[in-house]
Amino acid sequence: MVVVYSSHYDITFFGVERLHPFDPHRASRAWRHIRRTHGSALLKKSLRVDRPASLGELRLVHSQSYIDSLGKSANVAAALELPFLQRAPAWLLNWRILRPMRWAARGTVLAMREAVRNGLAMNIAGGFHHANRDSGEGFCVYSDVALAVAQLREKGVIASGQRIIYVDLDAHQGNGVCHQFRQDKEVFIFDAYNESIYPGHDLAAQERIDCDMPLEQGCDGTEYLEKLQAKLPGFIESAAGRNHSAIGVYNAGTDVFAGDPLGGLKLSSDDILARDLFVVRQFRSRGIPLVILPSGGYTKESFRFIADTAAALMNADQLK
Ligand SMILES: [Zn+2]
Repeated sequence: MVVVYSSHYDITFFGVERLHPFDPHRASRAWRHIRRTHGSALLKKSLRVDRPASLGELRLVHSQSYIDSLGKSANVAAALELPFLQRAPAWLLNWRILRPMRWAARGTVLAMREAVRNGLAMNIAGGFHHANRDSGEGFCVYSDVALAVAQLREKGVIASGQRIIYVDLDAHQGNGVCHQFRQDKEVFIFDAYNESIYPGHDLAAQERIDCDMPLEQGCDGTEYLEKLQAKLPGFIESAAGRNHSAIGVYNAGTDVFAGDPLGGLKLSSDDILARDLFVVRQFRSRGIPLVILPSGGYTKESFRFIADTAAALMNADQLK
């Protein structure tokens, strides 16, 4: 597996962590944790991101009016759902918050490319599944999955007619991805989510899901894994079609953790690792390349779940 990372991923906006439960240093903490367990072996199996996604590239999946709107602090504050940011200068928000997110979006493009080349890759940031063509919400500004698919199609890395199998196991429903691929018949969407939480109002997005797995508030790991094991293999099998010429995208949000303040589900850290390894094996056993994105996860320990999955996947025995 290739791990894709940049030291530019961290968000360093003064005190933002006191006003939102997310850990702005989650990416670098995850990276250091993997490095502690894997040492120099990680450097051979990793790729540093070369630059942030450019505004020109982002126009492939976002409207010009939306990109322009991010020049105003009030609009950035609304997308990030952090009203206090309205008072900050727009240049500072761009530098300290939006730019790290553009690095993460570029990382997703590179990780998807590496997945096609090597079979399995993981970006240590990204999975902004609430971002839409004309708007951002739920702490998601740039639609990195749509960007990666659009750029790799443009470059011919993803062939015409090749299918994308998107599996979203973040606790929140991936409404932005559903909207981005609303008309795209080559994209197949599986989504398991807590139906009691944001963005439950977005019924138009839910209609786009090809195979859904709505969960009740407080669903535990045993029930979660049973449902996933019952539903996911058949979905991948039918989505891949006969020749299995497909690419998998796994949104591996860790806000399903029992201690997460936003997810409302009750998986343990062992359940999360079991879930991630199960999903990866489903793709690997069918020879379908897979890119993994960490998406949501809002505890001070969330970095550890991401790192544990990465470390396990770097050990080839875990893939069998
Ligand atoms: Zn989430």
